[in-house]
Amino acid sequence: MPAYVINGHLQNQSIAGIMTNTQPKKVLIIGAGISGLSAACYLQMNGFQVELFEKHSIPGGLCTSWKKGDYTIDGSIHWILGSDKGSGFYKMWSEIIDLKQVSFYNHEVRMELEVKENTNKYGSKIFRVYTNLEAFQNYLLDLAPEDQKVIRRFIQDIRDLQDFELPPVLDPLPLWPSIVRGIKMSRYLRFLYILLKQKKETNFSLSRKFKNPFVREAFRLLFDDNEVNMLVFNFPMAAFDRKSAGYPIGGSLAWAQRFADRFEALGGVIHYNTPVKKILTQNNQATGLLVRNDRVHEADIILSAADWNRTVFEYLEGKYVSDTILKLKEKQLLKIYYSVLLVTFGLKKDYKEEVHFSRFPINHILESPCGTKWNRLETHFYHYDPTLAPEGKTVMACSFYTENGKYWIDLRKNDRKKYREEKTKFVDAIIALLEERYPGMKDQIEMVDFATPATVLRYTNNWEGSAQGWLPGENVFASTPIKFTLPGLKNFYYASHWSRPGGGVPVAINMARDIAIRICKDCKVPFRTKRFE
Ligand SMILES: Cc1cc2nc3c(=O)[nH]c(=O)nc-3n(C[C@H](O)[C@H](O)[C@H](O)COP(=O)(O)OP(=O)(O)OC[C@H]3O[C@@H](n4cnc5c(N)ncnc54)[C@H](O)[C@@H]3O)c2cc1C
Repeated sequence: MPAYVINGHLQNQSIAGIMTNTQPKKVLIIGAGISGLSAACYLQMNGFQVELFEKHSIPGGLCTSWKKGDYTIDGSIHWILGSDKGSGFYKMWSEIIDLKQVSFYNHEVRMELEVKENTNKYGSKIFRVYTNLEAFQNYLLDLAPEDQKVIRRFIQDIRDLQDFELPPVLDPLPLWPSIVRGIKMSRYLRFLYILLKQKKETNFSLSRKFKNPFVREAFRLLFDDNEVNMLVFNFPMAAFDRKSAGYPIGGSLAWAQRFADRFEALGGVIHYNTPVKKILTQNNQATGLLVRNDRVHEADIILSAADWNRTVFEYLEGKYVSDTILKLKEKQLLKIYYSVLLVTFGLKKDYKEEVHFSRFPINHILESPCGTKWNRLETHFYHYDPTLAPEGKTVMACSFYTENGKYWIDLRKNDRKKYREEKTKFVDAIIALLEERYPGMKDQIEMVDFATPATVLRYTNNWEGSAQGWLPGENVFASTPIKFTLPGLKNFYYASHWSRPGGGVPVAINMARDIAIRICKDCKVPFRTKRFE
């Protein structure tokens, strides 16, 4: 039996043994995405009897990949926050899967960005973001010695974030060690100070501090000419430098499959191809699920880890709402995260000479039939993952973010022929742009795949094809208005990437862990985990 860390202490026993004194409660979970799978693992580990219901034939939800010919198209993760020690997410992932079994690829260059107006002192328009902070600082100092003070401050701001394990994952400890830890935790006050200091800095405000025109333009363009809080850049950079934001070789579905395997190894059950139609209630208590073929499954507790809008307004028919929930439904409090047009090519050449990720300006505006316009293109060569394409070949993806996913969803629903035609036209426009950038690429294409917001909706039910739930509001630290429970309904819980604006797989596992802690607390079961070390 492998050694695990339980509540910070090395153990050799199975955790199931710890729970034999508690009456197992039955929990039914809707959705086998990363949120549902993680919550299922945590609850099963804590002695609950858990069954998962998934509409698709595979686990993962948005965290997925699919095959087309010899190529694998990846639909989600570019890197996993917490792929190595030093992050609270490392601890969380390790509670569910053995990260030592996963090969992570750590990029040397996070991205290349081509600026439009200026050139650097070497006559190049390409700006490189190195993942190693020392290398990035030296690169910036070489390009802009006149900005030495700003550069050193910027790099130090990122290094300051590295002093803290985020989010803190606190194992329960006996009294004295926990008091000692409490005292040590006071250093997190410094973290609050750092956040307050960095909170207002955006790529635009930082850019204005540089005298060097090339570097100034590059920082302005960091997020496709949008103004974004620098913490959105700095937090991942702190992890990249530590090699704790690696890409899991095998891609998103392989990653999700590990969670499904773990849940089944813990004794849990997954019902695939089983869409949930209704959450059944009696006297304002959730009692079960009505699924495909009108079969009823009863339980003590229902947890939805599926789309927030459908859960509240379709499966529960909008019966358990508050003013806040109604405002969320009307998108008055938060906007829905962008949906993605993901165009992927299978290329006969491996393009290893190209950096894996780059953004560059295009000569004319690219307009999607949904009305979204782009003046830049981004290319993502997956040549670093040999599992996605045959030897000597590669997969390359172009992503386009849109606020108008509904257009594609409605078009597919109302006019399938036009939907296909629009897709073809859009792909042709991209191929023409790629050909300008990478002469000869057109002839290397032997596979094309185009996933639209309608694809996302069809396979995952995410509202308007959202890629990450809600878009964060202006204040990235504002508390989330999405609660784990609904007013007036007992024995029901909700947790997914919709639970915290910004979403993503780290939020998915974080919310899953928090909801498992909450359910354990409500059922008076001490929350325990075991960790692969
Ligand atoms: C193109 C793209 C790129 C991304 N890149 C990144 C990235 O680099 N980093 C990152 O962190 N995140 C990324 N994300 C986001 C990330 O994949 C998601 O935030 C995360 O996987 C959401 O997990 P979840 O379990 O909360 O929700 P989901 O994945 O949506 O899972 C919900 C599950 O519920 C199922 N379901 C829904 N309704 C029902 C029903 N009625 N009955 C049964 N089952 C149902 C769905 O089929 C699905 O499996 C990306 C997403 C996309 C689309």
